[in-house]
Amino acid sequence: MLRIKLGARRYVGDEESTDHFLPREHAGWDPTLTDEEVYEAARGWWRLSSKANSEKYAMIVCGDTIRLLVAIDEWASRGDDRRAFRGRILQPGHEVHDRFIGQPDPVTSGSRNPVAYYADEADLGHCQCGCGTRVRGDWAPGHDQIAIHRVINANFEGSVRQFIEWCRTQGLKLA
Ligand SMILES: [Zn+2]
Repeated sequence: MLRIKLGARRYVGDEESTDHFLPREHAGWDPTLTDEEVYEAARGWWRLSSKANSEKYAMIVCGDTIRLLVAIDEWASRGDDRRAFRGRILQPGHEVHDRFIGQPDPVTSGSRNPVAYYADEADLGHCQCGCGTRVRGDWAPGHDQIAIHRVINANFEGSVRQFIEWCRTQGLKLA
């Protein structure tokens, strides 16, 4: 999950009012903003690597409390290191909304960076091998090997030697 802490409201219209992905006149937050305005202020453009693309939710911190939860649907990037997202504001009844809304900022690292990664079970997916383990990324530890050996068992009678011979006949690189 991404934690985004909004700074003070400021005018950015000269550079950003005609932006294709995130057109806006202001960035940042003040206490008069509606949910929709907080969402627009929180969408970008943050200094983030492509690692952010796998985040499913953003929690938006205003002042010292979590003001809004967003399910992220889409990312755009600008230059090498700026990213913005589009998503849906979570409503009461959604598990992530109900667990976090109104809570204190959970990121207490003291870093001045407005964006931080916050590890939460809501970000987890299922191991690709089908075992049902909840994981961050594709595999539980070692389960990528289970998946590879299943393929070798199904197609090469469990023989790694046969599999490598087959790779050789296909012209694949062996090292
Ligand atoms: Zn697994």
